[in-house]
Amino acid sequence: MQIEFYGAAGCVTGSCHLLKIKGKNILLDCGLYQGKDEKERGNETFNFNPKNIHYVILSHAHIDHCGRIPLLYKQGFKGDIICTEGTKDLSNIMLKDSGHIQEMDIEWKNRKRMRLGQSPLEPLYTSKLAELSTYLFKGYPYDQWIEIFDGFKIRFRDAGHLLGSAIVEMEIKEFKEITTLVYSGDLGNKGVPLLKDPTPIKKADYVIIETTYSNKSHKNLNNDLEELVNIIKSTFKKGGNVIIPSFAVGRTQEVLYALNHYVENDILKNIKVYVDSPLASESTEIFKKYNKYFDEEASKLIQNGDNPLQFDGLIFTKSPEESSRINKIQQGAIVLSASGMCEAGRIKHHLKHNLWRKESSIVFVGYQAEGTLGRKILDGDKKVKLFGEEIAVNAKIFNLQGLSGHADKDGLINFIKQIENKPKAIFLVHGEKESQENFKKILDSEGFTSFIMNSGDSFTPGEENIHKSIVKNKIFTLLNSIEDIDSLDKDILLNKIKEIL
Ligand SMILES: [Zn+2]
Ligand SMILES: [Zn+2]
Repeated sequence: MQIEFYGAAGCVTGSCHLLKIKGKNILLDCGLYQGKDEKERGNETFNFNPKNIHYVILSHAHIDHCGRIPLLYKQGFKGDIICTEGTKDLSNIMLKDSGHIQEMDIEWKNRKRMRLGQSPLEPLYTSKLAELSTYLFKGYPYDQWIEIFDGFKIRFRDAGHLLGSAIVEMEIKEFKEITTLVYSGDLGNKGVPLLKDPTPIKKADYVIIETTYSNKSHKNLNNDLEELVNIIKSTFKKGGNVIIPSFAVGRTQEVLYALNHYVENDILKNIKVYVDSPLASESTEIFKKYNKYFDEEASKLIQNGDNPLQFDGLIFTKSPEESSRINKIQQGAIVLSASGMCEAGRIKHHLKHNLWRKESSIVFVGYQAEGTLGRKILDGDKKVKLFGEEIAVNAKIFNLQGLSGHADKDGLINFIKQIENKPKAIFLVHGEKESQENFKKILDSEGFTSFIMNSGDSFTPGEENIHKSIVKNKIFTLLNSIEDIDSLDKDILLNKIKEIL
């Protein structure tokens, strides 16, 4: 077996790792690069031939994990995409929406290109193509071993990060030896509304783990929920609106669940909550369908006849006209809209109409990747560009990380510590460099062996010295990339090798 790391390796988005087992090529996730990563790495080409991929194992439906599947399909992949049943349904709507965004983006760019006399570009993929790729999805329940082929079986465990999200346990049998590999996907935050806590994993020889918040300790979730109530009350008193940029799938439903509690217990009275994202409306229906995945508290509400995703004053807007009507509301509205990092979608309109108003509040409830508009606002930029126009940032900006769908530093360490055997190696992915370096120090001080993976790194389990194995594979990749090795100056080659060491 060999593991090659490509996406979310040395960055947060574009999750994609390649397993080579017994002549079969298996992708763990196939996500889209976003923000800075998209600019640096581009989404158009893969580091491998999609025609040679036999399977995709998908951890969850967020676009940074599944967003390049339609492109993989377009470039020749026709194998099975294996995931949980919840992920299958959610990916279906997520990918069609993503295709739609790609089409819109390119239309806008092409209008500009035409005016410059340039030829038009093709979208990365269309909504239609995204839909075609969803026929390859195969949904399975949690906790059941699935034999993918002889010598390779997997089991999905609830990751508590998004409806249907999974930690993937893998058992590889080669030469009569069994190796257990665990891929965390995105790990959830304990106690998050609606979702169960991440399932503890008992056995792992090797772990690939996300590190989004490996440098942070989340505040208590209840404190953040209380703060949300206070923000809403004080913003309304000032005469403004509360704008919540939120992933349409996942975070929106969790926030709605929390608001449901405050409305039905008379803590928030006569409020108007607009969910302004067709995708959020559609995915809320899927959440209702899979309410068996909800945590105990939410399940109890359902048993008592309450729908925890519905309350007085909650409005799902559909048409663009309904959406633009919200822009005329001066005060007293809570608007949940996508995309969560403010890069696309209707949220940009709500920001345009509220960012410059000191009465309004912008509340971030999810991770903002480097280079995204959301990150710029969060980092305190005083002016941002929206639709080619400069907008002043006068609204109050809040960051409620407790509501985050990702485990924090302690959550990640506990995930590792509850594994009963000591893993031989832990590979850190899906994180920014600085937080990964700090997290590695902690892991090393606790006696674990860990590595920060960069794009192109690979590793062969079973080799006695893991560090050497990674370096050896790096040199191997380098030599392979040099076409005419005989003509190469020995000194240049040695310098190159020193560079990567
Ligand atoms: Zn995710
Ligand atoms: Zn992710």
